[in-house]
Amino acid sequence: MLITGFDPWKSQLCTCPNKLTFNPYTGCDHRCLYCYASSYIPRFYECRAKKDLISRLKREAAKLGGEFISISNSSDPYPRLERKEGLMRKCLEIFAKSDCRIQIVTKSDLVTRDIDILKGIPSMVSVSLTTVNDELSRKLEPYAPLSSKRIDAIETLVKNDIPTTVRIDPIIPFLNDDVSELVKLLARQGVLHITSSTYKVKLANWRRFGKAFPNVSSQLNRLYFDEGEKIGRSYYLPRKVRFDLMKKVKELTEGYGMGFGCCREGFNLNSARCDGSWVVTPE
Ligand code: SF4
Repeated sequence: MLITGFDPWKSQLCTCPNKLTFNPYTGCDHRCLYCYASSYIPRFYECRAKKDLISRLKREAAKLGGEFISISNSSDPYPRLERKEGLMRKCLEIFAKSDCRIQIVTKSDLVTRDIDILKGIPSMVSVSLTTVNDELSRKLEPYAPLSSKRIDAIETLVKNDIPTTVRIDPIIPFLNDDVSELVKLLARQGVLHITSSTYKVKLANWRRFGKAFPNVSSQLNRLYFDEGEKIGRSYYLPRKVRFDLMKKVKELTEGYGMGFGCCREGFNLNSARCDGSWVVTPE
């Protein structure tokens, strides 16, 4: 099946409402250093379309009856390959003819290409953004569109009345943990909700991160491996550090009247459904 239940592992910290998930591509070519999915999907950075994507999706989408589908959670639905292949656009054309509501989660400004189709579907876009600094985003997310492109995309989405939220994820101490400028900018742009989360270390992403940011990684070493906690297969920052970081983002976000949710942290800080889905599906 291409459209499946979200979080089949039933993570103990996930507070997402029931929803489905769909990934048009396997793997992702944005090559973010901190990527979690790269640790459980083989040949992750060799992004490729799902086999018989369009014909299979047509069959599955015809059976939908109003479900909420998150696209995508194990890859970006707009990898660089999409500029050439246009498969995500074809998928959206199929969803537009079926009975569903969709949430697109992406780091790509290419999503604005498909605004004409999104206008015909109950839909929202969640743009992932870690910094306002293009130099930092280039280093942290080497092949994803620069932060400034994503910020421009948010402006275009909002102007076109597409409900737009942002994931500030991951927040990494000593690197991008002051998000006040970013949150202020997003509020001015008309973003409705912010979801945030701290960096969860897996050994593969830690190796990549350490090579690119050796000084920050040596500062973080103690926090993650001596003072932090291991939850599932990931190393987390100490609980108090995570709580303070999330609380700060919550206060900033709510101060501007936006909804807030944190992702897989285990704190009762959400002012709205954590994934921002309330912007397209009322309670
Ligand atoms: S965009 Fe998402 S899936 Fe793609 S490399 Fe970055 S974190 Fe991984």
